Amino acid sequence: MRNMPKTGRWLLAFVIALGIVGWVFHMKGGDDVLGTAGAGPADSPSAAPVTPSSQPSETAVQTDSPTAPAATPPESSAKPTGPASLPSADPGPADGNPDDSAALPAWAADNLPSRTIRTEDDLAVITNASSLYVLVNKKRNLPSDYVPRDLTVPDVPFSFSGDSDKKKMRKEAAAALEKLFAGAEKAGIRLKAVSGYRSYARQKAIFDANAAAKGAEEANRTSAHPGQSEHQTGLAMDVSSASVGYALEESFGKTEEGRWLAAHAADYGFIIRYPKGKESITGYTYEPWHIRYLGKEAAAEVAESRLTLEQFFGTLEASAEKA
Ligand SMILES: [Zn+2]
Repeated sequence: MRNMPKTGRWLLAFVIALGIVGWVFHMKGGDDVLGTAGAGPADSPSAAPVTPSSQPSETAVQTDSPTAPAATPPESSAKPTGPASLPSADPGPADGNPDDSAALPAWAADNLPSRTIRTEDDLAVITNASSLYVLVNKKRNLPSDYVPRDLTVPDVPFSFSGDSDKKKMRKEAAAALEKLFAGAEKAGIRLKAVSGYRSYARQKAIFDANAAAKGAEEANRTSAHPGQSEHQTGLAMDVSSASVGYALEESFGKTEEGRWLAAHAADYGFIIRYPKGKESITGYTYEPWHIRYLGKEAAAEVAESRLTLEQFFGTLEASAEKA
């Protein structure tokens, strides 16, 4: 070094510097390659499966490339696909977890009946009351103080006038109900909403009145114990038509309106919650007027399966066990 000519020393220093810069770039490049591939599912679970992000594809995809994966990937090969609108549940990573999420999407896993219950004063109390996928029945009680936070009055015709909590539903369900009513009207079907949200206290008053009139056993078949009514979730609405005088009775199921509702409710994210002949499973007699919001995709799954919500969750429990 000491004997080197000055230029030679500069040259050596330059070569060393080049080497360091090159090494740094190499490392950085390697990280990036890993970064894009590895971080893909984390930052955009809904993005196309494992496509390294390259700039030009954004514009090319839409227009003419049939080979490029579409912006909305067909993740629907998994059985019950979670609605995208679900507040708390992200769909699992596309290439996800081999053992768990492969069988069940996150929304289902998070809302399995066996995982959403606790015992309180000998009562089975639901822990996911505010989920769109809550399962309420005679074995699963809502907390007595549960009140949905986003209740609103849907812009649909009602069978009665004046302000009432009965007109309310949760925001997302209310918006879906408006679409359902609009769809019905387009088809020449006139429906009216009869009864939506019901507080724990109001349900208690109704049950007590029914029990006094018909006896507790009969009251239990047709009306819910407080805490066991789906109406307390803000996700249910009773609907009826002029053809039955807006009554909530079985004959509604045979009317043109009732048949339209049964055929199309799922298109708007609702299910007929208490189908005919399923009393032993749901705990309630046939209620063709009672629709429950579940979101479009889950409602479609349930409707297609022809299962009750209890049975549908049963199949999810079974696949969770298998996984
Ligand atoms: Zn009802």
